[in-house]
Amino acid sequence: MVNRSITMRRCPLCHNQHSSVFHQDRKRNMYLCDRCQLVFSDANSHLPPPVEKRRYQQQVAKNQKPLKQFLMSLILQCEQQSTDPLIGLNFGRVAEPDTVLSVESHRHTLYQYDPYFAANHDLLKRQYDFICCYRVFEHFRFPFKEWSLLGKLLKPGAWLAISTKLLTELSAFDRWHHKNNLTHVSFYQHSTFEFLAQQAGFKLLFAANDLILVQKPSGSDIKRDQSSLDDV
Ligand SMILES: [Zn+2]
Repeated sequence: MVNRSITMRRCPLCHNQHSSVFHQDRKRNMYLCDRCQLVFSDANSHLPPPVEKRRYQQQVAKNQKPLKQFLMSLILQCEQQSTDPLIGLNFGRVAEPDTVLSVESHRHTLYQYDPYFAANHDLLKRQYDFICCYRVFEHFRFPFKEWSLLGKLLKPGAWLAISTKLLTELSAFDRWHHKNNLTHVSFYQHSTFEFLAQQAGFKLLFAANDLILVQKPSGSDIKRDQSSLDDV
């Protein structure tokens, strides 16, 4: 039985203090933020980092093919906007050398950052023409931190392409296989990305299951910055 009462649990994305218990099972509780509509798991149920790292190690080979497809279709989209060589960042999941070579064969440069397997912090001090986050957002324990960081890493006019399974049917959550992986701790709805884009002054170009495309406005289009989220 799910208790829908309002709690004072702080949303790890928008920092709203009001969320309700949304789902309970044997392993963990999930909460729904009434402001940004994020569904997030109880911090007490997060796996210890060494356990989480081991799980990721076991899954390194998995998803490489769709990651490459996702990245290459992003490159093709970017090339429709600009013929210049681009500098991109693959954030949160390391692609195989073969994928990096494919990007480089289009004259672009691809850097890779991952907190466990490619923790080069210097890469987080510059800006990029595009950023790819393939099946990464669901793993963010404190997504405010990463969303703020990614916003800063985008050049004006740059694109952020996110692949994460959107939560489209709240009433079907109990049966949603995606939630059973304990490394998945944050679940986003279409409205969550609308909220984030609006807060940051970014353009939400597309948001369907498995592809969310966000563009940082160029130059004078920028209305608000990430600090607006801090006001909450
Ligand atoms: Zn929220």
